[in-house]
Amino acid sequence: MTLSANTPTAELQALDAAHHMHPFTHGAGLAAKGARVITRAEGCWLTDSDGHRILDGMAGLWCVNIGYGRSELAEAARRQMLELPFYNTFFQTTHVPAIALAKRLADLAPGDLNHVFFASSGSEANDTNLRMVRTYWAEKGQPQRQWIISRWNGYHGSSVGSGSLGGMKGMHAQGGMPIPGIAHIDQPHWWLEGGQTSPEEFGLMRARQLEEKILELGPQNVAAFIAEPIQGAGGVIVPPDSYWPEIQRIVKQYGILLIADEVICGFGRTGNWFGAQTLGITPDIMTIAKGLSSGYQPIGGSIVSDEVAEVIGGTEFNHGYTYSGHPVACAVALENLRLLDEEGIVTRVREETAPYLKDRFESLAEHPLVGEARIVGMMGSIALTPDKASRARFEAEAGTVGFLCRERCFANNLIMRHVYDRMIVSPPLVISKDEIDILIDRAWKSLDQTLVQVKAEGLMRSA
Ligand SMILES: *Cc1c(COP(=O)(O)O)cnc(C)c1O
Repeated sequence: MTLSANTPTAELQALDAAHHMHPFTHGAGLAAKGARVITRAEGCWLTDSDGHRILDGMAGLWCVNIGYGRSELAEAARRQMLELPFYNTFFQTTHVPAIALAKRLADLAPGDLNHVFFASSGSEANDTNLRMVRTYWAEKGQPQRQWIISRWNGYHGSSVGSGSLGGMKGMHAQGGMPIPGIAHIDQPHWWLEGGQTSPEEFGLMRARQLEEKILELGPQNVAAFIAEPIQGAGGVIVPPDSYWPEIQRIVKQYGILLIADEVICGFGRTGNWFGAQTLGITPDIMTIAKGLSSGYQPIGGSIVSDEVAEVIGGTEFNHGYTYSGHPVACAVALENLRLLDEEGIVTRVREETAPYLKDRFESLAEHPLVGEARIVGMMGSIALTPDKASRARFEAEAGTVGFLCRERCFANNLIMRHVYDRMIVSPPLVISKDEIDILIDRAWKSLDQTLVQVKAEGLMRSA
């Protein structure tokens, strides 16, 4: 049996349901409904097996920064596959693509982040970080520094280690997570959790939970704090301006390592190469993946400071992946970074398209169903609410209305995700002003239709 994009959709769906287990999906529910089959993509546009053209407001899964269909990346992969498709970097060997990409990343990364440990995903990279920071302290004669502090509703991946670092309670409930030695503090989510405090006060309060947690665990026992500069999967939560400076003060005061998880924020998403630059953060380690290759190849890694690299280099770090520094993935990432740079894509985001998107996106806050619209660079979110003034939640289970809205977006050929009752966007960085207009028009139309449905179903009630 040969399948192709011309195979009837129903047949593809039936086979998918019979044999393919989807991540983060209720399998039986999807099987009953049938998965949408995506067959092609170009620029910011997806095509499905029924011929619909869909505007991808999520850049795949936050990763196709350069947009779809770039033949240069295919050529880079082809060249590298023919020249050297694989060799490992374990046995005192190296190869040109890994060297070139590590050097390029050292040049792009801020400060003294000059060393790269490669992985094939963000999850793997955070597993590396977990072991690396503990090994760092052991090598410095402080092996009791085991605790890593992270945040509820943060996302750091889906392996046992990275899923434990993350703060997704639904994930922790399955399969024996979190592993020991990880403590979580609350997120700086003013809209949902800020109550009567001002955003600035609230940002300080939430940052100071880090200090309280350090003192509770004993400062001499804490290895690191990990956080996304702006939470992505948790709902694109832009922290109050007061938050990061206070976090930075605290990690400095107690001498603990700071890991910035740049898997989404990196590679132009916030208008700079890294979210740390946009938010004024000075990390010791940055986690990277997703936009590093614009999703054309699976690759991630950790960019590490001189000091951490020197300490880790003083021992044999018993850690690595078969595909650490995979030559094809490195070659594709390198070509992706070249294009993002030489075509001025990151600069254009910062100076032109992100300001335009911000202006248009924030106008969604005028919609009767929308409480706030927040956006930084090319990552934004809107809060759906039955009552703007009180920032109320819906009485219906969290996510009910968000799901309805996502379905309306789908029907209107716009990919916009929902996280509970927050709608999020993270389009390819190459999105044009005309495409931004289409995105906003479709979002507005979807919100209108959602409002009609929510009212008809009696869901416009506050909790
Ligand atoms: C997606 C993501 C990860 C995990 O990356 P995978 O490649 O899916 O393993 C880690 N951290 C953040 C912030 C992410 O958004």
